[in-house]
Amino acid sequence: MTTVLEATGVRKSFGSHEVLRGIDLEVEAGETVVILGPSGSGKSTFLRCINLLESPDGGRILVGGRDVGFDVRGERLHELSAVEVARRRRAIGMVFQQFNLFPHMTALENVIEGPVGVKGEKRSDAVARATALLAQVGLSGREKSYPRQLSGGQQQRVAIARALAMQPTLMLFDEPTSALDPELVGEVLLAMRGLAEGGLTMVVVTHEISFAREAADRVVFMDDGLVVEQGRPEQVIDAPQHERTRAFLARFL
Ligand code: ADP
Ligand code: MG
Repeated sequence: MTTVLEATGVRKSFGSHEVLRGIDLEVEAGETVVILGPSGSGKSTFLRCINLLESPDGGRILVGGRDVGFDVRGERLHELSAVEVARRRRAIGMVFQQFNLFPHMTALENVIEGPVGVKGEKRSDAVARATALLAQVGLSGREKSYPRQLSGGQQQRVAIARALAMQPTLMLFDEPTSALDPELVGEVLLAMRGLAEGGLTMVVVTHEISFAREAADRVVFMDDGLVVEQGRPEQVIDAPQHERTRAFLARFL
C-alpha cells in the first residue's frame, strides 16, 4: 500500500485560539476518507494546511505517491519560494463550497486552463482529456456552456473536473455541496461517488451522512481540533464510541 497523506501532530493557532491541537491522519492510495465534525472544529483549517494555504505551527504533513512527494516539517510558507509552493500545491486538487469558475470561459476552457496555462500541455491533448473528465462527471455536451448557463450542481462538477485535470495525487473536498440548492446536491455526490469507486484518493469534508456511509472507506470524526474517532463508516456512524460523536450524529437523525 502507498501512503498518500501522512499528517502527524498537526497544530495551528490563530492568535491565542488553538484550532488544530495535534491532528494525526493517514490516507492510503485509492482511499476515500470522509471527515465529519461540527462547525468550527478545524476541518477547513486542516485541509488548508494540507494544501499549503495555511502554514501549520507544528507537526508534519507528507504528501507522497507518484513522483510528487513533499514534506512539510513545520516549515513556514514564506520560507518556500513561490515556485516551490506552486509545485507542491499542484499535487493536490481542492474543491471548495464556492466553485469559483472563470465566468468568461466555457466549461471546457475552465478545465484546460490549468493543464495548458500552468503545465504547458499541448492544447489538443488537454482538450481530449478535459472532454473525458467532463463526461466522467456527467457533463457530456456541456463543454461549450458558460458558467452562467449552468446550474450550481453543474458548475460544481466543472470545478471537480478542473481540479482533476491537473492529475492530482490527492483530492480534497471542503463541503462541496453546502452552497447548493437541495435538489442539486445528489448529482454532485453521485459524481464524487463515481470518482471514489474509480480509485481516486479523496479526503472529503461533508455533512452528507449518506455519502459518508455509501462512499467512504473510512470516516473520521473531528471535534475541537482533534480526531476524536475514526473507522469504517458503519462503525463510526452506527456505533460511535465517543459521546461527542454520538451527540454530533444525533442532529442528523
Ligand atoms: P470548520 O471547517 O470545522 O468549520 P474552521 O477550520 O473553518 O472549522 O475554523 C476553526 C476555527 O478557526 C474557527 O473558530 C474559526 O473562526 C477559526 N479560524 C479559521 N480561519 C481563521 C483565520 N484565518 N483567522 C482567525 N481564525 C480563524
Ligand atoms: Mg469548514
